[in-house]
Amino acid sequence: LVSKDFKKEPTVINIKGVKIGGKHIAVMAGPCSVESRELLFEVADSIYKAGARILRGGAFKPRTSPYSFQGLGEEGLKYLREVADHYGMLVITELMDPRDLDLVAKYADILQIGARNMSNFRLLKEVGKAKVPVMLKRGMCATIKEFLMAAEYIASEGNYDIILCERGIRSFDTETRNTLDLAAVPVIKNASHLPIIVDPSHGTGRRDCILPMAQAAIAAGADGLMVEVHPRPSEALSDGDQSILPENFDVLMRRVRVIAATL
Ligand code: PEP
Ligand code: MN
Repeated sequence: LVSKDFKKEPTVINIKGVKIGGKHIAVMAGPCSVESRELLFEVADSIYKAGARILRGGAFKPRTSPYSFQGLGEEGLKYLREVADHYGMLVITELMDPRDLDLVAKYADILQIGARNMSNFRLLKEVGKAKVPVMLKRGMCATIKEFLMAAEYIASEGNYDIILCERGIRSFDTETRNTLDLAAVPVIKNASHLPIIVDPSHGTGRRDCILPMAQAAIAAGADGLMVEVHPRPSEALSDGDQSILPENFDVLMRRVRVIAATL
C-alpha cells in the first residue's frame, strides 16, 4: 500500500489547510519536551513568525533513563493545543502507548511514533485504526525496507495519512549522536508515494549541524523538516545540545525557502 507500485502520484496530506507532501515543504518545530505553558508560547511565537505552521513538543517522552524528565502528560497536551490554536498552527506530539491513543488524539493533529517504537507493531496497528494522520520515525537500527514495512502496518489497518521521518541511524562514529542518512530521502522517494521529512536535530545531536543538514535535506528532495528550537538550550529539560535558538531558526527558514524555490 505504501509502495509506488500501488500508487504513483505522491500522497498529499491536507490537515486544516496545511499540506504535507507533493510540492509543499512542511516544517515542524518546537522544544523537545513541553516544559511549561510560558516556554511553549515563547517558542511558538518565534517559529510562527519565521513561517512554521506545525508545533512540536513531547508530552510523553521516551527517555533513556527512567529518572530523567518523562514529560508533563495531559497537562503538556493541553498547552500544545492552546498555544497552537492561538496561532492557528497544527500540533504534532509523540504517542508511546496504545492506551494513550484517545487521549493524545483528542489534542494532536498528527500522532508521532518515535524511533524507539517503530517496530512496536501493536502500536502501529492501533494508529492504523485511528482517523488521525501519523508521522512515523525511522528506528535507529532499522533498514529502509523495515521502515517502509512499519509504515505498511499502519496503512494495512486503513490509515493512509502517513508521513515518514528520517532521524538518523546508529553508526560507529561518536562525533554525532546519530548518522543522518540523507540518501534515504531519494531512495524512499523512488520506492514510496508517502511524504518523507528529515529531523536534523535527532539526526546529528549537534546544534552546529542543524542548518547545514536542513539545507541538504531540502536539496535532497525532503518534503519537510522537524527541528528542535529552544530560547535557552542550556536550561532545556531534554535535548538542549541539539536545539537551535529562535533567531537561528528564522535563518534556517529563509535558507530553506531559497533552496526549495530552486527545485
Ligand atoms: C523526539 O522527536 O523528541 C524524539 C524522541 O525523537 P526520536 O524518536 O527520533 O528519538
Ligand atoms: Mn528530542
